[in-house]
Amino acid sequence: MLTLSQIVGQQRPIEALRRALATDRLPHALLFSGPRGVGKATTAQALALRLNCERPADLDGCGRCGSCTKIAGGQHPDVVVIAPDGAFIKVEQVRQLQEQLPYAPHEARWRLILVDGAEALHGSAANALLKSVEEPRPRNLFVLVTAAAHRVAPTLLSRCQRLRFTPLAAPALVTALRAHERGAAHGDDALQRVAVLAEGSVGHALELLDSAALAQAQQAADSLLRVAETESMLAVFQTVAELSGERAVLPQTLELLAFRLRDLLLLATGLGGSRLLASDTETALAQRAHALGSRALLHQLRAVQQAQAALAGNANAALTLEALVIALRGRATEQVR
Ligand SMILES: [Zn+2]
Repeated sequence: MLTLSQIVGQQRPIEALRRALATDRLPHALLFSGPRGVGKATTAQALALRLNCERPADLDGCGRCGSCTKIAGGQHPDVVVIAPDGAFIKVEQVRQLQEQLPYAPHEARWRLILVDGAEALHGSAANALLKSVEEPRPRNLFVLVTAAAHRVAPTLLSRCQRLRFTPLAAPALVTALRAHERGAAHGDDALQRVAVLAEGSVGHALELLDSAALAQAQQAADSLLRVAETESMLAVFQTVAELSGERAVLPQTLELLAFRLRDLLLLATGLGGSRLLASDTETALAQRAHALGSRALLHQLRAVQQAQAALAGNANAALTLEALVIALRGRATEQVR
């Protein structure tokens, strides 16, 4: 289980918590908002660890004392998690929680109530929770977590101090994945590829790592680039026919392709690539970048973006890919002449 100082890429909310902890001015209700899978619930758990640890150090619980062990094992009676039961958080779930609130925490210094999916509170359930948040009791801390703050009841929102979590930049995402049990099992190459596709979300990145889709998308992106360099139209049609049957992985394929081209473009303009996709050596990439030149690369990148927009608009996959390969080919050949 992560501690607060181990949360990657969320300096602002973590800093706000550090200040609150240092001055002993924790509000009685917090709202963590931000995209799915960027560490909101993990941070709430780490906060529970820190608040109740028998030997805390700065931001962190020790991870070894009785309290830390119970929290890490999900067995602490004073760390209460409410999550949607189906599509909603039901009023019965809130009422059940409310029965405990008048009593002091069983054994903890702080009872932490984690509402994971606060946008799923509607009508009577939202009103019931609002009542509890409005009547704060000592040593109770509400942490509401949501990936859709605009759908949280405004009355509830207004009672909470809001901390905003942001998507992780690719390098921070790679760091977070390396530190994660499920991420550490994969090589750096895979982590870097997945970081490009995961839109800043550790959760999404982990799902991608566990799926075969990533390797499939990488293969597809490689064959598109390869076929764009051949002279044979027959090869183009064959490759396009194969790839257009795998429509589910096409968005990822095009995203990888766009990323590769952005990298080459940076290299061609002498800015240095992010090397996130540099499975070839950097020298080979740089040679390719200079051979193509920035104008051609920009044109290719635009062609990929057009293909992305077309597919998002539900265009025919085969026609879109054909047009893309021809755009990639045209410029590659022109450049050789
Ligand atoms: Zn501890």
